Amino acid sequence: MSSDSAPIDHSALRKKYREERDKRLRPDGNDQYIMPSGRYAHFLEDPYVKPVEREPRTGEVTVVLIGGGFSGLTAGARLKEAGVDDVCIIEGGGDVGGAWYWNRYPGAMCDTAAMIYLPLLEETGHMPSKKYVFAPEIFGHAQNIAKQYGLYDQALFSTQVTGLEWDAASARWTVRTDRGDVLRARFVAMGTGPLNHPKLPGIPGIESFEGHAFHTSRWDYDYTGGDAKGAPMDKLAGKRVGIIGTGATAVQCIPPLARASKDLYVFQRTPSSVDERNNHEIDPEWFGTLEKGWQRNWLENFATLQTGGITDKDLVKDGWTDIAQRIRGRIMETIRNSPGVQIDEKFLRRAFQECDDEKMEEIRARVESIVEDHGAAQALKPWYSQLCKRPCFHDEYLQAYNEPAAHLVDTDGKGVERIDATGVWVAGKHYEVDCLIFASGFQFGSNHMRGGGFPVVGRDGLTLQDAWAEGMKTLHGMHSHGFPNLFIVGPSQGANLISNITHNLTEAGTSIAAIVAHALERGAEQVEVTQEAQQAWVDMLTSTRRGFMGNPDCTPGYYNNEGGPIGQRELLGGAGYPKGPVAYFKYIDKWRRSGEFEGLEFR
Ligand code: NDP
Repeated sequence: MSSDSAPIDHSALRKKYREERDKRLRPDGNDQYIMPSGRYAHFLEDPYVKPVEREPRTGEVTVVLIGGGFSGLTAGARLKEAGVDDVCIIEGGGDVGGAWYWNRYPGAMCDTAAMIYLPLLEETGHMPSKKYVFAPEIFGHAQNIAKQYGLYDQALFSTQVTGLEWDAASARWTVRTDRGDVLRARFVAMGTGPLNHPKLPGIPGIESFEGHAFHTSRWDYDYTGGDAKGAPMDKLAGKRVGIIGTGATAVQCIPPLARASKDLYVFQRTPSSVDERNNHEIDPEWFGTLEKGWQRNWLENFATLQTGGITDKDLVKDGWTDIAQRIRGRIMETIRNSPGVQIDEKFLRRAFQECDDEKMEEIRARVESIVEDHGAAQALKPWYSQLCKRPCFHDEYLQAYNEPAAHLVDTDGKGVERIDATGVWVAGKHYEVDCLIFASGFQFGSNHMRGGGFPVVGRDGLTLQDAWAEGMKTLHGMHSHGFPNLFIVGPSQGANLISNITHNLTEAGTSIAAIVAHALERGAEQVEVTQEAQQAWVDMLTSTRRGFMGNPDCTPGYYNNEGGPIGQRELLGGAGYPKGPVAYFKYIDKWRRSGEFEGLEFR
C-alpha cells in the first residue's frame, strides 16, 4: 500500500505520536484502575461452576502446582514424564485452563497461531482446527492435557491458596487454602500468571450504575443469551449495550455484540492497531506430513523471526513475524545496493522505525478502506508504534462499525468522563445504556510483584514481598534466594517472549521437572539459588533495557507502566534475557542438559 502512496514523513509521525501519547498521560498512571469491590465485588467470583463440597485435604505431596493454566499443566506434564507422579494442582477456577477457563467472551480466540501457542501438540496428538483457534478449543486442549497426564487425579479446584510457609526443620512448604486444606509440599511451583485479576477503570460514579454490568472475563450469557461457542446473543436484541475498552479483548467481542445488540456504544480511549487475521482451517493431510520434532522447530522459527532474527523460512507467517521480515528485507536491500555498508545498531534502529512506520501507515489505511463513516474511521486510526500496545488481528472488528447498531464514542484520549445510574458521560453527552461491559483488562504483574496475593514466607521468616521490595530478584525468573524448593513461573527475567507466552511456560515446566527429578534422584531435601548466582543474573538483566517495559515514548498501557515512571521495580519486573528469547531458550536447554544446574545448590 505504502509504495503507491506519498512517501512517509517520519518526523511528522514522531510529532503526531508524541502529541497523541501526551493526551493520554495521566498523573495517576496505574492507580487509575481499581479492583472490583462493592457493587462489583462479584466480578471476582466464578460464574461458571458452583464449588464442590469436600473435606479439607491434609498430608504430604511431592509437588504442589499453584494455578491450573498452561504453567501448571506443562509443569505437571513434564513432571509426570520425568516419573514424578505425586503432583497436586491447586486452582481458583472450577477446572484447568487458566485464562482460557475464565475468558469465555464471544469471539474469544488466541492471537498467536495455534501450531505454536497450544503446548504439547505432539505429545497429545491434537491437530488445531484452524491457524488461530477459538477459546473453547484451547480450554478443551487444556482439559485433554490434564486428562492425558493424570493431573485431575489430585487437583483441588475452586480453591484459593491463602499462604505458603517454609518449614526449615522438615524442609517442606506448608500450603494453606481457603477451603481449609493444609498440605505439606516438598516443592511448590507458582504459575499464577501476570494478568489474572480483572481490573476496572476508576471512573467517577462507576459505583452508581444501576443497570446490568459485567467484566469480559466473567461473561454473563444468562443476560446476553448465546454461548461461548458462538451462538448468537439473542437476549440483546432490544438492549442498549455500552462497552468500555478497545483492547485485544474488545476487538474480539465487539463484532458479535454489534450484530446482536439494539445499540452498541463503544467507548474508546485509544484505538487498537488491527491488522488482518486471514484465518484458515488446518489441512489434516498436510498436518500428517509433519515430522517428529516439528513443534520445537516451529517454536524456534517463530521466536527467531519475531525477535528480529533471520531464518530461511517463515513457518508461521503472520502479523507478528511480518515486521521482522520487513526489516530483514530492508537489510538485504541495503547490502545489495551498498556493498560494505555497516549494519550497526543505529542502522537497525532506523530500519525498525521505518518499517514500523510503513506497517502502521498500512494499518491506518486499512481502517480507512473498511470503515464507511469518515469520522469513525479517523478516530479508529492508531497513532503509535505497533508494539507499544498488544497488536490485534481481526477480519470483522473494523467491519463491525458498519453495522447500524454500532456507535463509536471516541473520547479523544481522555477516557470516559463519568458514569451515573443510567449510563455513561463523554464530553458532556449522556449515553443511556441497559448494560455496561467492562473490557478494561487485568491487573498487570504477578501478585507478588504488586504486593498483593497470598503471603509467601520463606527461610527465616523472609516474605517474598520483602525480598522483592525493590523489584523482582531471581535466577531465570524462577528461583529466588531465601525460598528453597519454590519455583516461580512466568516470562519475566527469563526469555520474556510475549508474543507466545506458552513457549516460556513449556520451557519453565521442563526446567522444573529436570530440577525436581535431579533432587529426588540425589535425595536432596533442598534446592536453592545462591545469593551470588541470583545477583549475577539480576546484574546481567539490568545491564540492558531489553524487556517490554522498555519504551516510555509509547502511548500509555500496561506495557510501559501506563506511561508512569519506569524505575528499578518496573525494569526488573519486565526484564528479559539481554540476548533475547532465542538465545535464552538455547542457554536454558544447555543449562538443564549439563546436569550441573549452575547457580542452584542441592542440599
Ligand atoms: P487491555 O488492558 O488491553 O485494555 C483495556 C482497555 O480499557 C483499553 O482499551 C483501555 O484504553 C480501556 N480503558 C481503560 N480505562 C478507560 C477509561 N477510563 N475510559 C475508556 N477506556 C478505558 O485489556 P484486554 O482485556 O483487552 O487485554 C488484556 C490482555 O489480555 C492483552 O493485552 C493480551 O495480553 C491478553 N489477550 C490476549 C488475547 C490473545 O489472543 N492471546 C486475546 C485477548 C486478550 P487505553 O488503551 O487508552 O488504556
